[in-house]
Amino acid sequence: MSRAFNFCAGPATLPEAVLKQAQSEMLDWRGTGMSVMEMSHRSDEFVNIAETAEQDLRELAGISDDYAVLFMQGGASSQFATIPLNLLGDKTSADYVNTGIWSKKAIAEAKRYADVNVAASSEDTGFTTIPEQSVWNTRADAAYLHYTPNETIGGLEYDFIPDSGDVPLVADMSSTMLSRPVDVNKFGLIYAGAQKNIGPSGLVVVIIRKDLLGKARQQTPTMMNYQVIADNGSMYNTPATYSWYLAGLVFKWLKEQGGVQAMGEINARKARKLYDFIDGNDFYANPIDPRFRSWMNVPFTLADDALNSEFLKGADARGLLNLKGHRSVGGMRASIYNAMPEEGVDALIDYMAEFAKERG
Ligand code: PMP
Repeated sequence: MSRAFNFCAGPATLPEAVLKQAQSEMLDWRGTGMSVMEMSHRSDEFVNIAETAEQDLRELAGISDDYAVLFMQGGASSQFATIPLNLLGDKTSADYVNTGIWSKKAIAEAKRYADVNVAASSEDTGFTTIPEQSVWNTRADAAYLHYTPNETIGGLEYDFIPDSGDVPLVADMSSTMLSRPVDVNKFGLIYAGAQKNIGPSGLVVVIIRKDLLGKARQQTPTMMNYQVIADNGSMYNTPATYSWYLAGLVFKWLKEQGGVQAMGEINARKARKLYDFIDGNDFYANPIDPRFRSWMNVPFTLADDALNSEFLKGADARGLLNLKGHRSVGGMRASIYNAMPEEGVDALIDYMAEFAKERG
């Protein structure tokens, strides 16, 4: 049984080297006689695994001591509520930019706690572009400005970091985290569900500027209070130990690949290849404004939707898996995160070319 190229948007493919290492350490982690899953989270061994993972992430992403790094649970979706509960402080309103399905979910949840101002939206374009910041209707008294740098479903990605002035900038980096260099210092808070570029689902990494801690509303559940989680080294309760360990292995692997600079170059090349192929072949189309095409998630349609299932069947037969587009948009979607090797993209392009030739 050989490994397939898995284009799933998440949970997504993980580096084979990481899986092999986890496999080799499964029964007996470095002479402890147990797997990481079975270790006390208070043991020296696990505390070391956890601290090393955080340190490696800090190095990879360039996170200074001005920021706390939290390893939380409940996926990125739990942050949709956690953010307003913690960041509103004595303010009532927050700005959000609506560029797709994940923005909308964040907005809907925030509305339960905040007076949400949708500062800009590209819904009228079918979420195929991103409004220039000059037309955003942001408020000076907003507690924060939230945006979604990469819309995983639409395949729409910002090519700029918004300037939010003194208002803390909050970013859902679930599907773009660690895929290219980003200046963390421009952000008040970054969060990312792990299951794309970091590790197993359920884990969510939160990077928060320390001056934003300690403002949680009184009714905030303890497990959602950033200050509590930070004060306890993300071990207020039993953390997702195995996921944290696996994330640590992914961070080590990323460092070996040359870090986010090298990943950014590889990812740009992978995405360019695939978009160039789609643009150059009449049988395939991608609707996104070329300036804002995602490096991570590449949706595309076939000239005839009636051929979709045949396309998917042929892809499966070649070990090119999970190419079906999200149920809300249809068509196909190839997610090509850090762990998708360039050969996977080449194999996909070869198959697409062949299919178009035969059926186009
Ligand atoms: N935000 C974005 C951009 C996502 O892609 C996803 C998951 N696909 C989520 C949030 C939700 O993540 P989770 O399922 O971990 O709650």
